[in-house]
Amino acid sequence: VQAVIREGGIPYILPITSDISVIEEFAKNIDVLILSGGHDINPLLWKEEPSKNLGEIFPERDNFDFTLLENMEKLKKPILGICRGEQVINTYFGGTLYQDINSLEWATLKHNQKNRPDLATHTVNIEKNSKLHEILGEEEILVNSFHHLAVKTVAPGFKAVGFAKDGVVEAIEKQGNNLVLGVQWHPEMLAEKNNIMRKLFKYIINEAKKEKVNER
Ligand code: MN
Repeated sequence: VQAVIREGGIPYILPITSDISVIEEFAKNIDVLILSGGHDINPLLWKEEPSKNLGEIFPERDNFDFTLLENMEKLKKPILGICRGEQVINTYFGGTLYQDINSLEWATLKHNQKNRPDLATHTVNIEKNSKLHEILGEEEILVNSFHHLAVKTVAPGFKAVGFAKDGVVEAIEKQGNNLVLGVQWHPEMLAEKNNIMRKLFKYIINEAKKEKVNER
């Protein structure tokens, strides 16, 4: 909410509902969707049984987020996914997740930091030929990290555009014109003191304003 207001946007928090006609109206009435962080994703959604290290899931929210994504996509409105939001996007569009990267031998970095949320703790390398690079203007950034799930196979039509030094996917984006971007870190918790992270919100709020102009 603060990160959106800081860049001149008007935030609305959408209540979770299973009523499809209400969700359709949500999508019509907002200019951009930001999917925030939260619970683990139900692995049954990518046809995997729950591993013993899976955390708490919230299937009602998974369904809500999926229906919101479906409707936002139809309307070609921009979407930003944060942490769980990135994972929801990847799953919705047909990709898969690791249920617990701490169980992976090759994922050696600390992705569940114990430090305060506004402290960036690990590096992310950003693909040069990407929307994310265009937005941030950086090839290497420092991010915070509060996740134990991560993208395994990238959804069809998407590209992994950010990587931690251990190879964990940290950002994905949809190929094509309409912005559908997911980041594994929490830019909103860094944005107050971090101009690079502010750019992400600045960009998406500007996209939202363009939508408004097009509607008039
Ligand atoms: Mn991380």
